[in-house]
Amino acid sequence: MKSVVIERPNEIALAMREVPEPGPGELMIQVMASGICGTDLHIYRGEYMGRYPVIPGHEFSGLVAAVGNQITRFKMGDRVAIEPNIACDNCVNCLNNRQNFCLNWQAIGVTLPGGMEEYVIVPERAAFPIGDLPFEHGAFMEPLSCVVHGIERARIGLADHVAIFGAGPIGILMLQMARIQGAAHITVLEINPGRADLASEMGADRVVSNFEELRADTYDIVIDATGAIPVMNRSIDYVRMGGTVLLFGVPPSGKNLEMEGFKIFRKGLTVLSSFTSVRNSFQAVDLLQSGQIQVEPLISHRLPLQELPHALELIESRDPAVKKVIVQPNS
Ligand SMILES: [Zn+2]
Ligand SMILES: [Zn+2]
Repeated sequence: MKSVVIERPNEIALAMREVPEPGPGELMIQVMASGICGTDLHIYRGEYMGRYPVIPGHEFSGLVAAVGNQITRFKMGDRVAIEPNIACDNCVNCLNNRQNFCLNWQAIGVTLPGGMEEYVIVPERAAFPIGDLPFEHGAFMEPLSCVVHGIERARIGLADHVAIFGAGPIGILMLQMARIQGAAHITVLEINPGRADLASEMGADRVVSNFEELRADTYDIVIDATGAIPVMNRSIDYVRMGGTVLLFGVPPSGKNLEMEGFKIFRKGLTVLSSFTSVRNSFQAVDLLQSGQIQVEPLISHRLPLQELPHALELIESRDPAVKKVIVQPNS
């Protein structure tokens, strides 16, 4: 079968591998749709916790193609999406319901072979049924579950005014989730014209392209969905007194934020981050199935597996036409 392997940072190639067999408690998934996100780019560039060589792909869905022994929830042909983070359920963090900080953490597509190949082996507990949801939409289960976790932490209140920095796929999911949580007014800051247009289409009340158009000390919640340090630094200027800042975008490692400590103190701010998700996959599938979260407008490219190296460059180029890129290893 065809796989895409990141051999080491900055080195990616199409490879042929043996089709793997599921062991006890494992499923073989025929991958139908596999999303690319910023994390894949970080792994490719050697800036994330990847283990090399690695087959990337941690946002995917497909068909159960074979089942190992001791499988209780699935049969061949079932349609599923994959939660890539594998917690041990037997360390102090897991046993305190903090599975996202599992001391023996593994992740499909980061430390284990991922969805950028035709078939992949996953433990049964990583699989969630998606019913008749299109596979491309099922591939959003993972990023959406992370967004749900972040939104739960931020505790958006009824009629809150929310500002979201960045209208990439995550920013657009945040926008829709903030609305579901009861936000009265949502302002999106986005410099890329293609992404700004999408934010308007997806229901932002106001879309601005620079900080000068935002109102200082105003928003109940400011959410950063860029991970860009200079943008994150400005978040505390626009949140109201007593408000909340959610730093959600993944910043580059080894770089410091620069924020005035006194300002955080005087404004009585709650500054939060959010790391992956904790058992949010069922919620994510429900939100996708109910139609409350729309992902079709987020998909800009559907590509075969061999186009993955090109697709990573496409994402890196910040071309306004690029939104979510979905790879279809079995097309
Ligand atoms: Zn991702
Ligand atoms: Zn654990």
